[in-house]
Amino acid sequence: MKKKILVSACLLGTPCRYDGKSKPCEKVIRLGEDYEIIPVCPEQLGGLTTPRPPSEMQADGRFINSDGADVTAEYRNGANKTLHIAKEHGCALAVLKEKSPSCGVHSRYDGTFTRTLIRESGITASLLRENGMTVLSEDDI
Ligand code: SF4
Repeated sequence: MKKKILVSACLLGTPCRYDGKSKPCEKVIRLGEDYEIIPVCPEQLGGLTTPRPPSEMQADGRFINSDGADVTAEYRNGANKTLHIAKEHGCALAVLKEKSPSCGVHSRYDGTFTRTLIRESGITASLLRENGMTVLSEDDI
């Protein structure tokens, strides 16, 4: 039986990004040859619509979208639901989309909406790691 791994749905071709598009990654899709892939989109799981205004994590930990709305609750909800799914399926590994405020593994935008990256993880990547999972990005594959 193949081991199960959690994967950002947008990397598999699901059009769940804020702009209604996907970011398919062949290397990640091919992981399906060796693993059973459990697709997740934390932002959709948290109750956000697709498409949606882009959001960034602020220095104080809140998530604000480009319209100025506070969507912190949705981001936290999505991270918690993603962790629940990982536990349900016994996933020890997640492959998540780099730079996202939810899924970013090594980097995310800094909250100023100026396309400035910082070396910090998104909320979902952080939560999965805090709970003992190995979290890789598409760049690590
Ligand atoms: S939350 Fe994650 S899975 Fe969903 S669109 Fe953003 S990067 Fe992709």
